[in-house]
Amino acid sequence: MTTATIPDLSGFVEHLGIRISPIGDDGESLLALGHHAPLKAAHAFDRFLRRTIGDPGGLTDMGTPAEIAQDIHEMWAVTVTDCGDCGSKPDCRQCADMKAADWWIDWTVSEADEGAFPVMVLHLEG
Ligand SMILES: [Zn+2]
Repeated sequence: MTTATIPDLSGFVEHLGIRISPIGDDGESLLALGHHAPLKAAHAFDRFLRRTIGDPGGLTDMGTPAEIAQDIHEMWAVTVTDCGDCGSKPDCRQCADMKAADWWIDWTVSEADEGAFPVMVLHLEG
């Protein structure tokens, strides 16, 4: 059964009513919970960079908000607690990383997957 209930994940910061967190090893992508109008999401991501990350340029280098909106991907995500590849081996490094984090998500699933919830992802340049 698919549920669109968005889990209560820690560490997200809200801008323009959209909850945002950096994701990836170096925060190279931004993830927003829920599906929103792409232009509004572009503005929210820009505010997140300026006000939360403290990057005075925001998304300016990546183009206009309308251009950035076209690069924002509507995806579906699930929270995961093990890597799914190792058969839950106790010494799996990937599983250890996941258990050490507050949350871990896989945002490459489909809407039909159990527990899938909507997210938007923007890959930052540079
Ligand atoms: Zn594992």
